[in-house]
Amino acid sequence: MKGNCWRIGKICRNLVLYYANSTQYCSKVRRTGKKMMSAENKHIGKKKKELVLILVILAVSALLYAGTRIIFSKPPMRVEISVDGTVIETLDLNKDTELTVEGWNDGTNHVVIKDGTVHVTEASCPDKVCVNQGTIRRTGEAIICLPNRMIARITGGE
Ligand SMILES: [Zn+2]
Repeated sequence: MKGNCWRIGKICRNLVLYYANSTQYCSKVRRTGKKMMSAENKHIGKKKKELVLILVILAVSALLYAGTRIIFSKPPMRVEISVDGTVIETLDLNKDTELTVEGWNDGTNHVVIKDGTVHVTEASCPDKVCVNQGTIRRTGEAIICLPNRMIARITGGE
């Protein structure tokens, strides 16, 4: 009986030791697992921070772009159409329009304003210099039709 008791006691102690070891092991695993999780979270956090930073940069650049567009935007440019030295029409360059200008000696020029440019599509003049001149878009540029004494000039915009 005495030997049996001792043996049982030994087994019990071993069991306790085993239990203690296993719990220690478990807690170790749990701890390292936690560490790994937090590292992953940190990584995700970093990514999130980067994303926020990118968004902030994008927002700031968009605001700057809008600001400069407003501050440095040129006043609307105009198209002055004159016949024989007299301005007969002043049009907005930024508004698409078409008109037939009745010039000198019943001559006609079909002036088209489109996308901030001016050009003459049709003219009654024999030389067609005004039509061949193509499009103008900058301030001070002009399409001149000498036979019809018609000038379409871009003004403003400074
Ligand atoms: Zn012409």
